[in-house]
Amino acid sequence: MLFVRILKQQNVKIQGTVTLKQGRDHSIKRLHPWVFSGAIQQVTDGLKDGDWVEVTDTAGKTLGFGHYQRGTITVRVIWFGAVPPGDSVYRAKLNTAFSQRLDTQVVSAYTNAFRLIHGEGDGLPGLIVDIYHDVAVVQAHSAGMQRDRNLISDAIIMSLEDKGLTLTAVYFKSLSEKSESEYLVGMAAVPHIVLEHGNKFYVDWEEGQKTGFFLDQRENRKLLGEMSKYKTVLNTFCYTGGFSVYALQNQAALVHSVDASEKAVAMTRKNLSLNGFDPHLHQCIASDTFDFIKDKKDVYDMIILDPPAFAKHKDARHQAVKGYQRLNTEAMKMIRPGGIIFTFSCSQVVDRQLFYDTVVSAGIQSGRQIKVLHHLSQPADHPVSLYHPEGEYLKGLVLYVE
Ligand code: SAH
Repeated sequence: MLFVRILKQQNVKIQGTVTLKQGRDHSIKRLHPWVFSGAIQQVTDGLKDGDWVEVTDTAGKTLGFGHYQRGTITVRVIWFGAVPPGDSVYRAKLNTAFSQRLDTQVVSAYTNAFRLIHGEGDGLPGLIVDIYHDVAVVQAHSAGMQRDRNLISDAIIMSLEDKGLTLTAVYFKSLSEKSESEYLVGMAAVPHIVLEHGNKFYVDWEEGQKTGFFLDQRENRKLLGEMSKYKTVLNTFCYTGGFSVYALQNQAALVHSVDASEKAVAMTRKNLSLNGFDPHLHQCIASDTFDFIKDKKDVYDMIILDPPAFAKHKDARHQAVKGYQRLNTEAMKMIRPGGIIFTFSCSQVVDRQLFYDTVVSAGIQSGRQIKVLHHLSQPADHPVSLYHPEGEYLKGLVLYVE
């Protein structure tokens, strides 16, 4: 049993009001959580980034409550309606989110690594919480979530404890300075071992990218595993080797894992040996994917293309599309006849249709006959609010290349 710290700033205090312009309340009434600066008439003097505010229409009617932050998205609404949120607002949201993960079978005897809070999808814009067995890793993408981190950390511990999951530590992972990262509660050694569909993985939230592991590919890795028996597999952009582990677990004949980062390649190696695979069945290569695939025609039966977001902003979209097109064309040209490609985009600004169209044009460039077998997405612990379609970011296709 972990003792929750003596609570310091443990309440949600509304610091001021953001008044919307006439006729600009449609979005919040439709439960979209972002209030853009252009919709705002007036703001209480002296508000600071991260303050809790009330959002009202011009007539003074309260529409919701959330975190204020100067910028394009000025308020991230956390609580809709006229009744102010109580101090248990985070507890309530966390309880719902954890119940959903349990009810939808994300967490099981075989999987103890999952996303507990996926920002807007869980009604907590700006907040990410990943659970790695008995450790929570918290990331704040807004000033308000950063400021409320201790309140959130206590709420996480209590919500999980209520349903029988006891945490030993909560780590706050800063988006910028490593020095700002800290254990909010307890301590835990890294790397930590977690289970995903019965496969073992080391997770290092202190040194690793994002929160240390890409949980969003869990179901897609499982599907790949089911198709990889006796196959020669190339896992590009492998990071910690997720797809490679599933392929070998399902008797792939040979797996090559490629990543530009030496650290990532080292972690893949560690994960493959953690699962006890015969070292002759895999090879890990630190290389740029584009360089690596140049002269590898007719070597592989399966290729995974899971690059980082090529576009983080709308103005980079055109370049990103060109990158996806080039990557997919190369893979389509080199794969063996009867080969399968798992291709992904995690760029939020490249939507599903644009990604699909890009893959079609890559197919045309390659000159091969190609069928779409599956449309892939993000799993149930990365939910998308029906009212916030921007939350959908992971798109994938499984292609059969004749
Ligand atoms: N498929 C992985 C996640 C991929 S994250 C998983 O299932 O966990 C994207 C990875 O691409 C990162 O590890 C990054 O180091 C790597 N990367 C970025 N640019 C690259 C390039 N040009 N060639 C190879 N790897 C690259």
